[in-house]
Amino acid sequence: MTISEFNKGLRNKEFSASEAVKKLYQKIKSEDPTIGAFLTLLPDLAIAQAQKIDSVIAKGENLPPLAGVPLAVKDIILIEGQACTAASKILEHYTASYDATVIKKLKEQEVIFVGKTNLDEFAMGSSTENSALQITRNPHDLERVPGGSSGGSAAAVAAGFALGALGSDTGGSIRQPAAFCGVVGLKPTYGAVSRYGLMAMASSLDQIGPFANSVEDASLLFQAIRGEDKFDSTSTPADDGQDLIAPDFSALKNMTLGIPSEYFESGMENNMAKAMEQVKEQLQDLGVKFVPVSLPHTKYSLSTYYIIQPAEVSANLARYDGVRYEGVMPAEYLPNDLQELYFESRGKGLGAEVKRRIILGTFVLSSGYHDAYYKKAQQVRALIVKDFEDAFQKADVIFAPVTPHTAFKIGEKSNDPLSMYLEDAYTLPVNIAGLPGLSIPARVKSDMPIGFQLIGKRFREADILGLGQLYEKEIPPPSL
Ligand code: GLN
Repeated sequence: MTISEFNKGLRNKEFSASEAVKKLYQKIKSEDPTIGAFLTLLPDLAIAQAQKIDSVIAKGENLPPLAGVPLAVKDIILIEGQACTAASKILEHYTASYDATVIKKLKEQEVIFVGKTNLDEFAMGSSTENSALQITRNPHDLERVPGGSSGGSAAAVAAGFALGALGSDTGGSIRQPAAFCGVVGLKPTYGAVSRYGLMAMASSLDQIGPFANSVEDASLLFQAIRGEDKFDSTSTPADDGQDLIAPDFSALKNMTLGIPSEYFESGMENNMAKAMEQVKEQLQDLGVKFVPVSLPHTKYSLSTYYIIQPAEVSANLARYDGVRYEGVMPAEYLPNDLQELYFESRGKGLGAEVKRRIILGTFVLSSGYHDAYYKKAQQVRALIVKDFEDAFQKADVIFAPVTPHTAFKIGEKSNDPLSMYLEDAYTLPVNIAGLPGLSIPARVKSDMPIGFQLIGKRFREADILGLGQLYEKEIPPPSL
């Protein structure tokens, strides 16, 4: 069901919000033990909210467009009074003391928060296997990963546990799990959505964005969460000139899409390359033109990201010292000194991947290496930004794959960090350049879901969301 279908049903009294919530939790209770999408369920909050909505409907009063819509939230975004773990042992007993701005905005929309979803610890990973708390399975094939790091959110939407979800995307963590689970995922422009109340991982790359069953739903959710926020100085006012919900389809059909040769040259599996060709033909049938573009510094994206990201991680995660937030040591533990308490708490509370990034990040920032690594990476970052600017001289939107292949098997890559890092080759450059990227399920026949990516100019979410809506409107889903 899409959000607009849900809205209609609710307003036409085909079902009540309370009935919807009850049914949803029955489904979650019976199916989520296998899938593992949720870390926490919020039934009390959800039932109270549903009752409130039903009483407003009974009185015949108006409700905001997202009222009653059941949403799942990645467990790295704060909801006041609720646990927020970042899927880390170090925050296993932490309770959020305030609402993230996106949560505040969605509360004003009267949505229903179903629960908090699993992720790779502190959002570092591409399979959700780095969660210190549980694994999540791909609803399309339980032997496979849902992608990551927002794997729980993607799986929750794909499994029908929520009509939408929030995730965060630092290097691909919304788009890649969306592609693996066959749902839509939007990584907005850096600054389009406030990061206040999102636990900071790599602050120059992190963005919150929605998962949904359709591009139209993702547009509705994005519209509700975007905009300037005085608590995040990088946030920018929403551009109200763009109609996200009712795009001008005839104008969109005149768009030019750029095909970056570097993304299509190597590394993609055959079925993925074939699917990309089919999607390209489908888009051409809609009227859009394709032109070749070049992003020559693509080959440096991965090394640039894996310097800047760990550097920022090492600074951001210094706050988890075992003193602030919640302790991880048993109550009877008495350290000899503060340093020992830090060592013990961080040693015990943080997982292997998180430690790896902190060590890497501390190294690239350290005296003597800073210029060779961190400064150089920042210089290359500027070149990657420039590549996209040049490409957008020729094209309105860039067309790309999301991943080199479909969802891999659980355990297949968990002992090989480098091959896990390579997962992000097509998604990282978008974060490095601060651009919006949309992952859309390709309407082609395939055993496992395949996503394609539309990359827009800065703050031109309307272009990629509009094209995505056009694609969904005019290209029928493949027959089974
Ligand atoms: N997989 C990437 C990483 O491990 C991206 C994660 C993310 O976007 N949060 O850093």
